Amino acid sequence: MSDCLFCKIVSGEIPADIVHQDKDCVAFRDINPQSPTHVLIVPRKHIPTLNELEADDAPLVGRLVLVAQKIAQDDEVDQDGYRLVWNCQEGAGQSVFHIHLHLLGGRKFTWPPG
Ligand code: 5GP
Ligand code: ZN
Repeated sequence: MSDCLFCKIVSGEIPADIVHQDKDCVAFRDINPQSPTHVLIVPRKHIPTLNELEADDAPLVGRLVLVAQKIAQDDEVDQDGYRLVWNCQEGAGQSVFHIHLHLLGGRKFTWPPG
């Protein structure tokens, strides 16, 4: 997708603070962090929202979660606790329409999230 911000970060057209990349995904620090660790794990494949996920994407989604687990360990937030968030559609807070998993850690989180 030529006009997608996260496709441009994935391709290297727009710079980001990348913490992990592999054949399936790129992970980089959020430009407006909501916690000391705030990383976005983004598939290389352009999928606008979770609503467009298909059965064949199941391994990809699992891979993104395992990458989040690894980054949580690298940032040493895994033992104190971290939160993984998917926002789907504007009503849930999605502002970039290329799916991404938020990894948030390094502070206390409340539940329910509000
Ligand atoms: P959403 O609101 O769609 O769930 O999350 C999008 C996230 O992307 C936001 O937390 C926002 O701060 C982040 N973001 C938006 N533009 C950029 C950018 O150019 N670079 C980086 N690293 N993060 C961005
Ligand atoms: Zn995209």
